[in-house]
Amino acid sequence: MSAVIPLDGASGEGGGQILRAALALSVASGQGFHVTGVRAGRTRPGLRPQHLAAVRAVAMASGATVTHAFEGSLQLRFEPGPATAGDYAFEIGTAGSVTLVLQALVPALSRATERSRVRVAGGTHVPSAPPWEYFFGPFAQTASLAGQRLDGRMVRPGLFPRGGGDVRVDVLPGVRPEEPLDLSRRGALVSIHGHAGSVRLPGTAERMRDAATQELWERQRLEASWHVDERWRSDSPGAWVLVEAVFERGRAAFGALFDRRSRPESVGARVARELLHFLEREEAVDPHLADQLVVPMALGRGGRALTSEVTLHLQTVVDVARAFGIEARVDGRVGGPGLVEVVVP
Ligand code: ATP
Repeated sequence: MSAVIPLDGASGEGGGQILRAALALSVASGQGFHVTGVRAGRTRPGLRPQHLAAVRAVAMASGATVTHAFEGSLQLRFEPGPATAGDYAFEIGTAGSVTLVLQALVPALSRATERSRVRVAGGTHVPSAPPWEYFFGPFAQTASLAGQRLDGRMVRPGLFPRGGGDVRVDVLPGVRPEEPLDLSRRGALVSIHGHAGSVRLPGTAERMRDAATQELWERQRLEASWHVDERWRSDSPGAWVLVEAVFERGRAAFGALFDRRSRPESVGARVARELLHFLEREEAVDPHLADQLVVPMALGRGGRALTSEVTLHLQTVVDVARAFGIEARVDGRVGGPGLVEVVVP
């Protein structure tokens, strides 16, 4: 077997992020990896169904040779073949996040020479993962500037804890942009958009929207355009909200899952305040976007992004990129603002 890149799964953020970044970069570079200590510090260590779903998806899309891919496994060895376009369907089987599977799969399929059609069934709105509107909105639109192209729609939402959602994504061959992605300044605020939806909780999304609208207007005289859909059908009742600022260059979005112990008004007002707090500052991207853009930048022409908060997730993806021989760094300490930079010759 050829030499593979050793990775320590317990380093940095110590979670699934190491694995997803490694899967994507492995297919893109053709280099295998062997990660040990997978999620060693977590209460339920090792590979969980959601991580295995990402491994299986990326392995299938690249004809990879994989060992130790079972639930609870603390290690994984992954040796990719070339990315192959096709029609793929993946089922996560729990409310595991569909967008986190796509986080690993989309960059891999962007390396294929033709369009792929992907269906992923699982959770579309679950804690600690990009909600569908974030993935398809701020993330996909910013990643497209780095050369990653995708189209998609949510057929059915799948909310935590039941999941059962269904999304369809078309991944087009990536393009190499002429310039590195420059998100070191955000430019002027162009618009604010909101998304809210609910399943079998009529009126909840509208109440979250109204509270967010009021907060934005009363505090800063800002108006937002909204897309609200309360007619979704799914086996997982619940509601969600996301508010997004579009700048000339940067983007930032803050969302929440409605929690039945809270009032919709307090959830809507809270996400609006998070956005207002970001607007008072001058960075170009929110902390989640920063970690999610490292792989697309590494696969494109590189780039830089100024974020309001350096997270362990960001530091971790940068470390994985470096392990794959990519020149990447973060200037700034965890918890404070910082600049992430990826240099592609
Ligand atoms: P773990 O292995 O830590 O149990 P995991 O594999 O499910 O967890 P993380 O490693 O925590 O997931 O990665 C979470 C990813 O989801 C990161 O890319 C992060 O930026 C993104 N994310 C988390 N919350 C949000 C949010 N509210 N909006 C957008 N993106 C988010």
